[in-house]
This record gives sequence, structure tokens and C-alpha cells, in this order.
Amino acid sequence: MTSTENITAYFTHPSFVEHDLEGHVEHAGRIRRVWQALAEHNLLTELRACEPEPASTELILEVHSREHLDLLKEAEALGETVLIDADTYFTPGSLEVAKLAAGAVAGAVAEVISGRANNALAAVRPPGHHATRDGAMGFCLLNNVAIAARLAQLEYGLKRVMIVDFDVHHGNGTQDIFYRDDSVLFVSLHQQGIYPLSGDLSETGAGMGRGFTVNLPLEAGCGDETCLELVDEILWPLARRFAPELVLVSAGFDAHWRDPLASLNLSLTGMAELARKLIAQAGELCGGRIVFAMEGGYDLEVLGHGVANLAALLCGKGEVTDPLGPGMPQARKIGPLLHALRQAHGL
Ligand SMILES: [Zn+2]
Repeated sequence: MTSTENITAYFTHPSFVEHDLEGHVEHAGRIRRVWQALAEHNLLTELRACEPEPASTELILEVHSREHLDLLKEAEALGETVLIDADTYFTPGSLEVAKLAAGAVAGAVAEVISGRANNALAAVRPPGHHATRDGAMGFCLLNNVAIAARLAQLEYGLKRVMIVDFDVHHGNGTQDIFYRDDSVLFVSLHQQGIYPLSGDLSETGAGMGRGFTVNLPLEAGCGDETCLELVDEILWPLARRFAPELVLVSAGFDAHWRDPLASLNLSLTGMAELARKLIAQAGELCGGRIVFAMEGGYDLEVLGHGVANLAALLCGKGEVTDPLGPGMPQARKIGPLLHALRQAHGL
């Protein structure tokens, strides 16, 4: 590629609709809406479409326990749709779809690290960030982003990967996987007090990993401004100190004011601004190497526009759309939270 050309790799797969359960919030219509939105915003011609391969068993076992994978295989052998936990369904085809979702994020990472693309977007489902080393939960079967981060390290020798999770729910699975690991800086921005109830700012990692897990818990209703201030005041200095070689983003869109599962009150404009800041961080710190992977987001309009905005920002079009407008954020004092976070992380 020439120095002026920007290539954004785009990974998705028609099979992502094959994991589905009627009436469930995490249904196949979500990805259909994303595909439709990318087409409507004339973004498909701006992206370089790439075909994902399923993540290999070997790579999955670098992140998940054999017991976890065996349990999914046993569920597959049942040949019918089952619930793995109260809200995580599994259909006969789900394991193959989940492997393809993880493989899509891993493939996006490979494109970016190899220099075949500058940055990448993986529009995938099922989501991954609640899947722990040992178990599926919260609609997630395999931890897509964690698997991709391990690929970056094992296949390409990267020593420092930063994962930023802006899904409204705490990325407990990703935290679990890297909790004792100083090679992955995991930063989760989420609403406190909702599913999965973890993600207190006192959870900062253990052993070698102490200080490499960063939780930014926000009060319900806080809105764009508070969120963006946290990014400026906490995430920027942390990222500069860590000096990542790659930035991976768990991009959920359920922090939007219209989302049915949470109430963080962000707008599409605010979320796009957040993404813009992360892209700028990658630009400053690691040659622009950033991969966005889709996680939650249960209002279809929000999800479609949200992912389209990411695509527009990644390919340098810069224009984002927000037909839904701002929410009604409540005034929140962020001073005490900033103080506590600076103390917890030595900033
Ligand atoms: Zn979520």
C-alpha cells in the first residue's frame, strides 16, 4: 500500500445469522441491521471485505479451558437449542458460528499487524466479552477479543496489547482471562450496578497483572460528557504509560440512551467521539493499529448507525450520523471517581 492510502479491513460472515433464538434480544436481526446500515451509508465500497476463517481449536485453547470447549461440544451433540445459563442460548450450529466470530476478529488483527490493512472492523455475533476462561455467559460463547489478542501475541510476537471495552456491561470475561497478565491492558467502561455486577474500580488485576485491569464504572444516566472526560483524564495517560502495539476495542452500543438493557444515556454522537479518541490514541501510540469488534447493542437503529459510524471513522470519511439525537443526561459529579481512579492506578 502507498503511504497515503488508507485500507480498512471489514470482516463479517453470512453465517452470523445462523445463531438465533426467536424473542431473544441477542438475535440474528441485529447483524442484518448492521449489514443494511453499512450498505445504506454507502460504506461497503470504502471497506475491504475479508472472509473470516474459524478460530482454530489450538488458538481457542490459549484462552479457554478444555472443559469449556468440551461443554460446548456436548451441547452441540444434543442437536437442539438449549440454554447454557439463564440468558445464553446455544443452537446446534452455534459453536461453528462462535468459532467464525472469534476467527473474524483474529483475522482482522492479522490484517492490521501484517500491514495489509491500516485498521479493521469486525461485525460479528455472538458477542464475546462476558465469556470467561471456563464458561459461557451473558449471550457470549467464546471471547472473540481475547482470542484475537492472543493471536497477536503468539503468532506475531506482540508484547503489549490494549483492549478497551465500551459496551455498557462490564467485560468480566475479558477481565477474567487477563487478570494476572501484564501483557494486556484491559480497560472497561461500563454502567455500575447492572449485569454482570462486577467491574468495581478496586478490581485492578492480580499477581503480575496488578495494575493492568482498569475499571471505569459509571453511574446510570451520566451521558456523553462524563464518559468522554474519563477517556481524556484516565484512559489517555494509562494508554501512553502502557504504550500498546495494538488497540482492540470491544464495541458495544448498549450505552446509548435508547438501549432497552441499560441507562448510561450516551448518544450516537458521543459514542462516535469516543471511537474517534480511541482511533487517535492508536494513531499516536501504535501506528494507527486498531481493530473494533462488535459486542452488545439491542436497539437496532442505534446498532446500525453506531457500527456505520465506526466504519466511517476508520476509513477516514469522518462524517458520522446521529438521527436519534442526545439523551437527557443527569448531572453527575465525576471528581470523586477521577480521584479514586488516579489513586488506584498511580496517575
Ligand atoms: Zn452489553
